[in-house]
Amino acid sequence: MLEVRNLVKVFRGRRGTTTALDGVDLVVRRGEFFGVVGPSGAGKSTLVRCITLLERPTTGSIRLGGVELTRLRGAALRRQRRRIGLVFQHFHLLWSRTAAGNVALPLEIAGVPRDRIRHRVEELLDWVGLADKAGAYPAQLSGGQKQRVAIARALATEPELLLCDEPTSALDAATSRTVLELLQRVHRELGITVLLITHQLELVRAACQRVAVMDAGRIAECGPVDAVFGRPQAEATRRLLAAAG
Ligand code: ATP
Ligand code: MG
Repeated sequence: MLEVRNLVKVFRGRRGTTTALDGVDLVVRRGEFFGVVGPSGAGKSTLVRCITLLERPTTGSIRLGGVELTRLRGAALRRQRRRIGLVFQHFHLLWSRTAAGNVALPLEIAGVPRDRIRHRVEELLDWVGLADKAGAYPAQLSGGQKQRVAIARALATEPELLLCDEPTSALDAATSRTVLELLQRVHRELGITVLLITHQLELVRAACQRVAVMDAGRIAECGPVDAVFGRPQAEATRRLLAAAG
């Protein structure tokens, strides 16, 4: 479903250059719940931003269901982007719009007719358990509720792949679990492939089938969660496990 080959991202600034991705190879299969872990600065967020081409990779290839994304621009790229939903740590909701207005936004951009938008937004908010909060503004919602709205918005265009960058890192432990359960429903009930970046290794243990460990812009190791966490081969994995206690 997602095939990343030799992905390199170099940031050039006044203070010199940073190689955020140093040749990433990654395959996520259709229907997987896939984890990505790694220390701060490993390149996890840059990887997600490159996969969606929010950030242009320096070199390398990104194929989504056989379509090479790095060659696309403009309308063709926007069309392919709708196949990917994004969820962030800090929700990235528009504060001037209600929950319903936030979920409606990607549908408005996609040019979906108004009455269909209304119906779809109702359905999505109901599905994430927030039917009664349609008219609430983000400032009136708890962190967990904000993330539910963000997940509903990410699902609006019926993506095949949901990329979640630290979706529970701004939430307390109990709320993290309910958001993880929602992502597990997204995976199980909607059949969406999920890629979860997190520093909470227990979430990976609870939800993921395979995990990739990133370190210094590369995949240090990748495999079934039990194998990678149970018999770590890479120094980066051992460090993460030791730090997690
Ligand atoms: P964290 O766990 O803290 O979120 P991360 O694994 O997501 O870390 P990235 O945010 O991808 O790490 O950053 C990887 C490297 O790229 C870091 O050294 C960072 O400073 C650098 N970097 C990221 N974005 C930019 C940018 N826009 N300009 C310059 N350097 C950047
Ligand atoms: Mg990050």
